Amino acid sequence: MSGPIPSLARSGDAVLSDLRLVDGIHPEPRDGVAIVIRDGMIVEIVPESESPPDSIALGGAFVMPGLINMHTHFSLSLPGPGGDAVSALSPHELSLYMADGARRTLLSGVTTVRCVAEKAGADFALRRAIQAGHVAGPRIFTAGRGLCSTGGHGHDTDDTLECDGADEFTRGVRAQVKAGADLIKLMISGGIAGEHEQITTPQLTDEEMSAAISTAHAWGRKVTAHAGPAPIIMRAVELGLDCVEHGYELTPEVATLMAQRGVALVPTLVVTRAGAFFDDLGVPAWMQERSLGAGPRHMQSYRSALEAGVEVLLGSDMPPFWNFEGTSAVVRELEHMHAGGLSATGVIRAATAAPARWLAAENRIGTLEPGRLADLIATPEDPTRSISALRGIDFVMQSGVVVRDDERRAR
Ligand SMILES: [Zn+2]
Repeated sequence: MSGPIPSLARSGDAVLSDLRLVDGIHPEPRDGVAIVIRDGMIVEIVPESESPPDSIALGGAFVMPGLINMHTHFSLSLPGPGGDAVSALSPHELSLYMADGARRTLLSGVTTVRCVAEKAGADFALRRAIQAGHVAGPRIFTAGRGLCSTGGHGHDTDDTLECDGADEFTRGVRAQVKAGADLIKLMISGGIAGEHEQITTPQLTDEEMSAAISTAHAWGRKVTAHAGPAPIIMRAVELGLDCVEHGYELTPEVATLMAQRGVALVPTLVVTRAGAFFDDLGVPAWMQERSLGAGPRHMQSYRSALEAGVEVLLGSDMPPFWNFEGTSAVVRELEHMHAGGLSATGVIRAATAAPARWLAAENRIGTLEPGRLADLIATPEDPTRSISALRGIDFVMQSGVVVRDDERRAR
């Protein structure tokens, strides 16, 4: 390498040509167009014939918006030796570990994440470092620490804050907002990773849920909840919940209510199909059995949501970049969403435009059109025909800057 080391913060000017555009608006890929990018923003989509000779020619690749992963934990520590090693990191070590995860996440094609419980405020430091260009990583929307009851889901690591009673939940929400949270995460039922609970264990009272949700809404923050069983979700939706994580045991009735109220589902199907990942981390047998055992009901639940017309959103829970079953965890999740009954274009929407809208960021991200940030990915095969085409992601651009280019086309 010669010349000065480029700053990660620099914004890009570029023209992308020789591509097929999957813009997230038109149903079919568009041929014969070029994307003009200035200062990191798409300013124009022009006919190919107008692209300058120094444009980046993508060899006919399919270009689509960067993926938005709505269920991410950069500081994830599950039970077992792998998770224990993360929990044992000092704050400095944890920051560096999370920065590495953020970089790998971006390179996997995820240009925006929504973090839903991170350890001890490290997510805010990571977000600032990415914004400042000190480290590479996706755009971060974060909940800060998740709020749980004493002994509730996730209580055993410091990515949660234990609260009891309406006042403590109100204070918990305000504390996350004070730290910089964009949304609030509540743990309203048990889950897979808690030794002393079942997925069906209710963990918050109506008063606690109501206090947390109304306080968050007063401060302009949406609320999402880790939730399994239908009756608990039904109650939370009635109290104003905006999004459900996992939804292991939805029924048609609760799915219908979610659809009516515009409550989204982040199904995270991969977490009940993640045996190889759990083996990598040395996750104990009881958790593996609970996870894999919940798989069929989880898929049935997801199908109920699709049938009821619930907006479903991409979320991997596992580190998005994790090398898993021949691809990344995030692409594997997209394949499960497709296998469960969502069309390839529906899956693309669930990974791009729909999450952007939930995040109230649709004016900046989620589609490729003038006025949007140039956050995009490219792959040789057509993702509107087969979502597995995303196994071939070989080019990632963030804010007009090429951050991954396996074919070295952008020279
Ligand atoms: Zn999670």
